[in-house]
Amino acid sequence: MSFSRVAIIGLGLLGGSIGLAVREHLAGVETTGHDVDPKVRERARQRGLVDTVVDDAADAVRDADLVILCVPVGAMASAAEAIAPGLSADAVVSDVGSSKLSVARALAAALPGATLIPAHPVAGTEESGPDAGFATLFHHRWCILTPPEDAPRDKVAALKKFWQALGSTVEVMDAEHHDLVLAVTSHIPHLIAYTIVGTASDLEDVTRSEVIKYSAGGFRDFTRIAASDPVMWRDVFLNNREAVLEMMDRFLTDLGMMREAIRAGDGELMFDQFSKTRAIRRRIVEQGQDDARPDFGRHDHE
Ligand code: NAP
Repeated sequence: MSFSRVAIIGLGLLGGSIGLAVREHLAGVETTGHDVDPKVRERARQRGLVDTVVDDAADAVRDADLVILCVPVGAMASAAEAIAPGLSADAVVSDVGSSKLSVARALAAALPGATLIPAHPVAGTEESGPDAGFATLFHHRWCILTPPEDAPRDKVAALKKFWQALGSTVEVMDAEHHDLVLAVTSHIPHLIAYTIVGTASDLEDVTRSEVIKYSAGGFRDFTRIAASDPVMWRDVFLNNREAVLEMMDRFLTDLGMMREAIRAGDGELMFDQFSKTRAIRRRIVEQGQDDARPDFGRHDHE
């Protein structure tokens, strides 16, 4: 099977990108979309993010065989409740939320009996809203599906095919494991960035203008992540609490070890650690997950 009518709820970065990517890669597949914010709906119409922008959530999903919820994780329950009256019995309901256990629970509670196949495209930028989306967002990026054990195999296969058509490589794992993996690869790095940027801006003996002036020393790479959408990230930490706390404890232990190494002048430990991390960066570049050019290619225009 494959999907022919896709409804997208939430027309920001992720929802808009899915709409544009479907138009580019899946000829003949119709898209409808809804966003709770009338201004976003208007902008989505202007940009043509989906074929039809619908004012009512239930109407938007009425004939859809695939519904994708692209709202902040904390809004998944209310978005699911709003589509319930219009949902076809055989439709697949999926989402793009950054944490999966809590979303799976929220969707199951709001849509009893529906076919739920949660998903997380590991693709994004620090931008949000209806102007942020673009058709190639999912190219060469992973998309993780976390189907419940009883999810129909043909529907899981169809969703896999859908994401592959948008340019992603698909992996299937259970929701709990997803949340742990993403806690360390995404959620903790965001927390560190939010914290270090906050720390630097609150210093008394180093002025904020100095922090900005000398940011090329490393700070500015944290500011890109720390510019990410506050609503989205508040919801991620509220919803992936257990996995984030577990990984944070590990991180704090390791940070304490580095603190001890610096205090004790243990250069060997630092050298070993920094060599290991350099090798991880090389593997990320080798696997096409980032730009190989030094300093992310920032000086290519000079
Ligand atoms: P976004 O650009 O802010 O878009 C979300 C849109 O959903 C907003 O227009 C929002 O409107 C709307 N919305 C909120 N509640 C709604 C509801 N109940 N019904 C309909 N629309 C609603 O956010 P995004 O970056 O696309 O993120 C969407 C989801 O993707 C989140 O769950 C996030 O965890 C996940 N994700 C994000 C990234 C990333 O890098 N950004 C990557 C992978 C996955 P208002 O702004 O007016 O509330």
